[in-house]
Amino acid sequence: MQNKQFSVPEEIFDPESRISRILEETTQRQAFSELEKPAEYSIERLARLLSPAASANLEDMARQAKDMTLRRFGRARQLYAPLYVSNYCQNNCAYCGFNFTHKFKRTRLSIDQAVKEAEAIRSMGFRHILLLSGEDPDYASVEYFEELAGRIRKLFAAIDIEIYPCSEENYERLYNAGIDGITIYQETYDRSIYSKLHTKGPKKDYNWRLHTPQRAAESGFRRIGLGSLLGISDWRKETLAMAEHGNFFIKNFWKSQVSISFPRIRPAEQVDPQDFVSFVSDRETVQMMLALRLCFPDIGITISTRETSEFRENTLSICVTRISAGSKTNPGGYAGSENETVSQFEIDDDRTPEDVAKVISQMGFEPVWKDWDEGFSD
Ligand code: SF4
Repeated sequence: MQNKQFSVPEEIFDPESRISRILEETTQRQAFSELEKPAEYSIERLARLLSPAASANLEDMARQAKDMTLRRFGRARQLYAPLYVSNYCQNNCAYCGFNFTHKFKRTRLSIDQAVKEAEAIRSMGFRHILLLSGEDPDYASVEYFEELAGRIRKLFAAIDIEIYPCSEENYERLYNAGIDGITIYQETYDRSIYSKLHTKGPKKDYNWRLHTPQRAAESGFRRIGLGSLLGISDWRKETLAMAEHGNFFIKNFWKSQVSISFPRIRPAEQVDPQDFVSFVSDRETVQMMLALRLCFPDIGITISTRETSEFRENTLSICVTRISAGSKTNPGGYAGSENETVSQFEIDDDRTPEDVAKVISQMGFEPVWKDWDEGFSD
């Protein structure tokens, strides 16, 4: 790596630290006074906006976040579709249906099947696709993604991946094949919770995962998607750690656009969200989005079909800039290339992409199927 590596400030997860005190002791008045300041990031400012006291100011925060999103992003709202190519995985994340200890018939789409699925996604109107797999390179190798990207790159203006962490050398190969966006969730930035939830497989290595988006950015990837899985730890502290991570990219990789997702834990094969104790409510998720928008006017905010249509529409009208639609979270879900395959998690919003686009238009926004062209590349 050419740049200094990111590390999570230790004070974030220390209950006795200065930042923990700011979260606990900020008053409503102090939180409100942050709205009178310029839209800049500092960890202290974000902590005040995330504090329990700030939740009383949510309507004012939403008004400001809405104006800011309109000024920076206009009325364009980008649509994308996920394509799951494999549900084989070497890890045992306690919150995921693809966990290798779960017994079910696994599937990996052949390249021809995956191309057929991608064509089905393209025929729905999408020009932005996210390729996903469980984390098992034996079944979905770098060569597999290179070949698949080569076959579908003419169909899509942008191809992103959400797969296992790769070396810089492999990211360079994927970039040269036409993939230039990555989503990689740290899941939790809290090391002690991370080690309890990831006890087997390569994902046990917290640092390797933490530095993954940096390896991708150094290989040229221009879209970096970060996220914490909401429901497994303290959402306020996760937001502070994720913001530090995002700020690191803004400062060191100005060519890469950072976006943040807010995945809340969902029911899945042998997974009950009630087994996880840190439930995050709608109101808290919105506070998290607004606080981040008020500190980072230019970051993308992504919301998936995990959420209800009502929640997606409400947040889209305020600060969300990117939204999936018509999603299938099982391999072969679009063109029926495989039957009865297991999903990573259950979705909530099952409207068609056409219906989602129609609603976005009715709300006064412009659904954008394509926001990048290879011709823009330098
Ligand atoms: S979250 Fe990812 S790494 Fe963990 S079990 Fe699921 S697919 Fe595998």
